Amino acid sequence: MVYGGLLTRFCSICGKLESPEMPLVDNLCWDCYKARNRMIIVPKDLIMEFCGVCGSYKLHGKWVKPKGGEDPKLSSAMEFVEEYVKLRGSGSLKALEARSIGGGKVSVLVRAHGTVDSRIPVYDEELWVDVNVKSVVCPRCARVASGYFSSIVQVRAHDRPLTQHELSIVNEIVEKVLDSESDRSGATLNYRVEAVKGGLDYKFDNFRLARKVADEIHKRLGALIKESHKVIGFDGSKGSRISRLSISVRLPSFSIGDIISLNGRIARYEGFSGGKFLYYDLESGGRGSVNYRDAWHGDVSIEVVYRSHELHSGFVNSIIDENVEIVDSSGRVYRALKPLAFDVEVGSRVKFIVFNGKIIIVSKGK
Ligand SMILES: [Zn+2]
Ligand SMILES: [Zn+2]
Repeated sequence: MVYGGLLTRFCSICGKLESPEMPLVDNLCWDCYKARNRMIIVPKDLIMEFCGVCGSYKLHGKWVKPKGGEDPKLSSAMEFVEEYVKLRGSGSLKALEARSIGGGKVSVLVRAHGTVDSRIPVYDEELWVDVNVKSVVCPRCARVASGYFSSIVQVRAHDRPLTQHELSIVNEIVEKVLDSESDRSGATLNYRVEAVKGGLDYKFDNFRLARKVADEIHKRLGALIKESHKVIGFDGSKGSRISRLSISVRLPSFSIGDIISLNGRIARYEGFSGGKFLYYDLESGGRGSVNYRDAWHGDVSIEVVYRSHELHSGFVNSIIDENVEIVDSSGRVYRALKPLAFDVEVGSRVKFIVFNGKIIIVSKGK
């Protein structure tokens, strides 16, 4: 065909004439070229393994959890499709929505934004992609179902049960670590806690998690940490031994509020911070600290004189100069020296100890 003295070409499929706005690409108009050359390339037989127990799916050989969404199966299918569907040309791919279509299949709407050929301007292409969902129980859930955990954190205190305060701190730490680790990895984190004589056993299916929990308890409560491994089997497929990690987390013999003897001086234990056990010296009224190492290696001798719940209690009956007279609920009278770090008034309630024949006021109030 001749137009204006020039030969005008036309699309070899639909016959549409070429125009300056739409030059033919490989003898085809843009629509026919796009229809024959899709941007969205779907691999044959998309099969996604999905664990209905924890809602994770297998991606490149690894089990992962979908990042968001109400329905884990649909969200997994969307992420799976975004990962496995390829884009020809240049541009980006996005899964827009997903729906179950029966027969164990999920259909995912994918939109490509870009162009299949640089001679054609950028456009959008949409396609519903079907994924076969194979329901399985992932190895992690299978292990948990069979009661298997790879690591155990045994929280105990030296020569005493854990206090309520310590139990709640430890639980708080476990929750926090689980939260932050599941955000990081997106993987499912399972654990089990068992109350045992003298403390708690936390079981995890992840070494890293167990170590993190133990380390946090160490930092917060000054616990002594000891790791041990036990070979419990052999993995023929990997040719390696399977071991179980045990971490002993031991809290010191003293807990917050206890009255301790520190190399012979009487003090109240105030807590662990910055790698140090903090105390309040009841004789000098000053504050001090003992290094973690010195306390655990016995360089400083620390003995519990009174547990915080065993302290005597009474009312101040009179104060004459430095002498304080206390009466307990049975009417017994005790004579102590005025404490150095705080004031007491007649009629106020105080806690005190009897140590080596001396009466020492350790705190006031209930
Ligand atoms: Zn055409
Ligand atoms: Zn699972």
